Amino acid sequence: MQTPVPGYLAELLESCDGDSSGEPAAYIPELARADVSLFGVAVAAPDGVVYAAGDADVPFTIQSISKPFAYALALQDRGCDFILSKVGTEPSGDAFNMISLESGTGRPRNPMINIGAITTHALTGDPSMDPQQRFERVRDGLSAFAGRRLEVDEAVFDSEMSTADRNRSLAFMVRSYGIIDSDPIEAVHGYTRQCSLLVTAKDLAVMGATLANAGVNPLTGERVVDQAVVRQVLSVMLTCGMYDAAGDWVTTVGIPAKSGVAGGILGALPGQVGIGAFSPPLDEFGNSVRGVQVCQRLSGDMGLHLMGAA
Ligand code: GLU
Repeated sequence: MQTPVPGYLAELLESCDGDSSGEPAAYIPELARADVSLFGVAVAAPDGVVYAAGDADVPFTIQSISKPFAYALALQDRGCDFILSKVGTEPSGDAFNMISLESGTGRPRNPMINIGAITTHALTGDPSMDPQQRFERVRDGLSAFAGRRLEVDEAVFDSEMSTADRNRSLAFMVRSYGIIDSDPIEAVHGYTRQCSLLVTAKDLAVMGATLANAGVNPLTGERVVDQAVVRQVLSVMLTCGMYDAAGDWVTTVGIPAKSGVAGGILGALPGQVGIGAFSPPLDEFGNSVRGVQVCQRLSGDMGLHLMGAA
């Protein structure tokens, strides 16, 4: 059936295409080589219909957008009480790669910053799993959210591992506080492979729609995680998902979301829509410049803001 949505999305991309500000992430050498002209958007309805425009089929690494999904898997596998005893839910106010630990407990402040996400990765699956099995659990889980098998970009993985000393030091910190008891080096290895999984804007839209659809993938019909897990994940995305621009994001877009340093943004509005956007140049907070613009316009045009119309 022909609908006006694809035409609207194409026009949306065109209207946001003029801003060439921002730079691709440089601290992972392979990401610095990204094609800055790439720009795509996709939206997926909870009934599984996906609309897209621009470079919505071009693969890029998921990076930090993997964090809410690994958090969902950890909650599903180990239970909310256990995971909450290990990782908090407060916005840190610090950059994503800081040592943001709660005084007293030593818990990372939330699962959307690196120190919390490395911890979360180490807590997915069954405690008896070896690091390889744990990574496969994460890959299978993220693939179930996307509705297709996701592959690792080995070049980006190698590139990030060559510059991952800060993440290694974060992993040793959480181990020193007894938050994880597994090997910190293995935790960073698995977490970095998780971040190196390749997705497209369309995949992000479907992954978002699975969250919007209370944990059931609308394409495959598979229940990936429980509804209670989804509520926890979306809540943390809303408060902590957009780096240090989370407050601006909530006021201007008003949708639970997560961005990544490869230029992806994922949004999920319960009961309504999953959104995927991709454009490599990042603003000073690490969010895709044109991705943010697309989401602001989508939210306004479609009346998606959680707090209602302006
Ligand atoms: N793999 C990246 C890191 O650990 C993810 C960062 C991000 O997308 O914010 O630094």
